Amino acid sequence: MQVRSGTTISIPELRAAVNGRVIAPDDADYDKARTVFYGGIDRRPTVIVRAADPSDVSHVVSLAREANQELAVRSGGHSLSGLSVSDGGIVLDLSEMKELQIDVEGRTAWAETGLTTGEYTNAVGAHGLATGFGDTGSVGIGGITLGGGVGFLARKYGLTIDDLLAADVVTADGQLRRVDAETNPDLFWAIRGGGGNFGVATRFQFRLHEVDTVVGGMLILPATPEVIYSFVAEAEAAPEELSTIANVMTAPPMPFVPEEHHGKLIVMALMAYAGDTDQGQRAIAPFRGLATPIVDMVGPKSYPEIFFPEEEGFHPVGATRSMFVDAIDRHTAETIVDHLQASSAMMAVAQLRVLGGAMARVPNDATAFAHRGRRIMVNVAALYERLEDKDVHEAWAADFAAAVRQDGTGVYVNFLGDEGEARDREAYPGKTWDRLAAIKQRYDPTNLFRLNHNIPPAIEDSTH
Ligand SMILES: Cc1cc2nc3c(=O)[nH]c(=O)nc-3n(C[C@H](O)[C@H](O)[C@H](O)COP(=O)(O)OP(=O)(O)OC[C@H]3O[C@@H](n4cnc5c(N)ncnc54)[C@H](O)[C@@H]3O)c2cc1C
Repeated sequence: MQVRSGTTISIPELRAAVNGRVIAPDDADYDKARTVFYGGIDRRPTVIVRAADPSDVSHVVSLAREANQELAVRSGGHSLSGLSVSDGGIVLDLSEMKELQIDVEGRTAWAETGLTTGEYTNAVGAHGLATGFGDTGSVGIGGITLGGGVGFLARKYGLTIDDLLAADVVTADGQLRRVDAETNPDLFWAIRGGGGNFGVATRFQFRLHEVDTVVGGMLILPATPEVIYSFVAEAEAAPEELSTIANVMTAPPMPFVPEEHHGKLIVMALMAYAGDTDQGQRAIAPFRGLATPIVDMVGPKSYPEIFFPEEEGFHPVGATRSMFVDAIDRHTAETIVDHLQASSAMMAVAQLRVLGGAMARVPNDATAFAHRGRRIMVNVAALYERLEDKDVHEAWAADFAAAVRQDGTGVYVNFLGDEGEARDREAYPGKTWDRLAAIKQRYDPTNLFRLNHNIPPAIEDSTH
């Protein structure tokens, strides 16, 4: 198909050229197809292509480049600022590409990037195996992997990218390239944390770990300042088999939460001990001792079972901020309680993730995720319904983050919203940014892949 720069796209020609579905504005499912996880994002792409295979991906990348169209790349659609849907451009939707080849003996799996983390986790879990992603099964393996991947196995086995062995990536020139430690090693370094800046990953090869039974699940405690800072202290002192995600929030009216606690401040903690069951129970005991648990669903279960079922059609509007801190002391815990109580949002939450362990043992310059030594990640979020309340909730999130933040820098790119260029740079501290910009110049000099936390190509030094 011939396309001149700036030309509009011929939908019939595109339909004839690709194997996957092409969804245009007058198709019945166009509105559903342009909907992403977060609500309040109302962008109207010219066309959505549900790629069927890498050749479709390559075709769409070349089309976007030649027609000079904005290109959004979508795996699971969970970008915090809706970066996987374009207004007026092309959406390359990978969600139909779900092939998974599991090598049980070799402990590896090739996974196409349309898989959600839940689909992958269930499929490999059937063999008693796992690769760590995040805490939510509907997140796509595409976005979470390219940004880093912090979840239930982070302290035991590291980030998702620490288990990434290879990838197939379509770069801006439309070429499908193998990317691993030997082949295109610069690109392999960059895609492990650099997000969607370098091309479209069509599939990943992951290492699999034997994670059959874990001691895990949900533990809900009343959220006093003492419980909050003691929880964090226990999580730091715990063996690294244990990773925890503590959500300090008002108790939702869920059937398993006794009614007298609804609307009260709780610590809803998600726990996962990947190791021996008895040792796991011993590791959980100090948390159970912090206060009388309101809900205790922690116990031996298969790894996929620790993921909570999700509500279909849940599209909250979110005001979020993320940061790393060195400690949660009494004062910070009191600040957390005060800010959560002051929120008027449908749901206000401060999420505390104690890091360390295996993810911290990887050198900072080994991948593009360069926050290895950070101790605790804090995400604050107001989830709300009415878009007209945006200013109130954004101001609350910004104030809350400023009150909790300690040294003021650093952010994990996958928890970054639309906060401007300076914050995008904070995701890539030290020399990381310059190294990424140089690789970007090599593989995407026109910045085709710019609908992301963008790393513009380095300006070439003409003297060399
Ligand atoms: C409810 C919720 C829970 C979360 N929990 C965690 C967690 O526990 N741990 C964690 O680390 N993160 C977590 N995240 C953050 C999550 O990792 C990011 O939002 C991630 O970008 C989502 O990936 P996705 O494929 O679903 O998103 P998408 O919106 O589809 O993609 C996000 C961006 O990634 C890029 N991208 C996606 N797929 C590809 C691809 N195949 N090739 C090239 N670029 C691609 C694109 O730039 C795109 O704009 C969570 C997010 C949400 C909303």
